Amino acid sequence: MPDSAPASKRAVVVGSSFAGLTAAFELRKRLDPAHEVVVVEPRDVFTFIPSLIWVPFGMRDPEDVTFPLEPVYSKKGIRFVNDAAVGFDLDARRVLTADQEIEYDSLLVATGPRLAFEKVEGLGPIDGYTQSVCNLEHAMLTRNAWQEFLENPGPVVVGTAQGGSCFGASYEFLLNTKHRIKKAGLEDVAPVTFITAEPFLGHFGLGGVADSEQRVEGFFEKLDIEGIPNNVISEVRDGEIELDGGRVLPFALSMIVPPFTGVDAVRETEGLGNPMGFLPVNDEFRHSEIENVYAAGVDVAIAPPEETLVPAGVPKTGQMSEVMAKVAAQNMAADIQGGERKSMPISEMEAICILDAGSGGIIFKADHVLGEAEHPRVMAGPQAHWAKIAFEKIFLESRKRGHPIL
Ligand SMILES: Cc1cc2nc3c(=O)[nH]c(=O)nc-3n(C[C@H](O)[C@H](O)[C@H](O)COP(=O)(O)OP(=O)(O)OC[C@H]3O[C@@H](n4cnc5c(N)ncnc54)[C@H](O)[C@@H]3O)c2cc1C
Repeated sequence: MPDSAPASKRAVVVGSSFAGLTAAFELRKRLDPAHEVVVVEPRDVFTFIPSLIWVPFGMRDPEDVTFPLEPVYSKKGIRFVNDAAVGFDLDARRVLTADQEIEYDSLLVATGPRLAFEKVEGLGPIDGYTQSVCNLEHAMLTRNAWQEFLENPGPVVVGTAQGGSCFGASYEFLLNTKHRIKKAGLEDVAPVTFITAEPFLGHFGLGGVADSEQRVEGFFEKLDIEGIPNNVISEVRDGEIELDGGRVLPFALSMIVPPFTGVDAVRETEGLGNPMGFLPVNDEFRHSEIENVYAAGVDVAIAPPEETLVPAGVPKTGQMSEVMAKVAAQNMAADIQGGERKSMPISEMEAICILDAGSGGIIFKADHVLGEAEHPRVMAGPQAHWAKIAFEKIFLESRKRGHPIL
């Protein structure tokens, strides 16, 4: 190698969903070809999680919402390690998998959430009685549960458990389920109840967006859905949910989004995450204590904007995860080879939330994720449903080709 050639450095991205995929593309675009980009991810496909709300109703099959990662990365000159990180050696700067150690000069942790079903007794599709749409395997189990429900219909309970943050997913599943119940002519035998940790309907963990409280309440009234905010689930048993205070909600079908924590590899690495396993970052999405470590997406620690009666976290959407990833990647590239840095306080990020309702829906847009939005906009109608489909198609097609747009 000639003396003037830059020493090759390695950026490693752990996790390859909204945040990891975006960061890997951005790093490859910014870094000199002499530097290596490596992605570590146990799944061999990308899954477009926002469409999982449609999988239980057969409106999407697994192949409609996924694409293989290896061909995309190899085309872009990114090394793909199809394995899970089991921990991090922060002193030696290594990502540890079950059978290898991958050195890094700069690291992005984009491992998303761990679904903490164990925090509520009886919650979850594996050791409990409720369904989930938080990953493809769970969405397929919910598809089976939906078929059983059609054969044996009864009350439906949808919601987000105490300590949860992914409120949009439960609202969307709720509205889609209601839409399907109506289409199946089962409204008389299948009353629908929504339970949520939010202090009011339409709060979304953000304090609400514009008149979201009135809009969501209006929707619920029109659709005859009972909404129970400030809710704490005491226990889930086979076919019933007991709420704090003693009320018991029977169900033939229930989908409850669990609270999230960080993943085990982060939780078990001393100094990497907070007690919940989320990574503390500064406005450059660099770890607040560790120089060469960055984080983006759901695994970033964000303090709620206000204290609520029942713990409710701040949602981190796909769009926010991608913005964080781009900022982090720019700063990682600057660490490696110099160049302009970028800073983006979370409070200043734009928030766009599409709540699909099966045929219509509501779009909320706020110029600030946190705090008082200056120009909030809310649109209700069929355009929300079409906007979500357009988002899905453009996202999947462009990422599959390695040319992200949107
Ligand atoms: C049902 C549902 C609907 C949603 N709808 C929308 C929507 O309409 N619009 C929107 O913007 N957002 C939506 N969201 C939120 C969106 O899905 C998340 O914001 C987004 O997935 C976050 O991306 P991420 O990369 O941070 O984490 P994730 O998508 O959770 O990905 C984390 C990745 O890390 C990998 N990983 C985990 N552990 C390890 C490990 N130890 N080693 C290596 N890799 C690991 C995982 O396999 C995964 O691929 C929805 C979420 C849900 C659940």
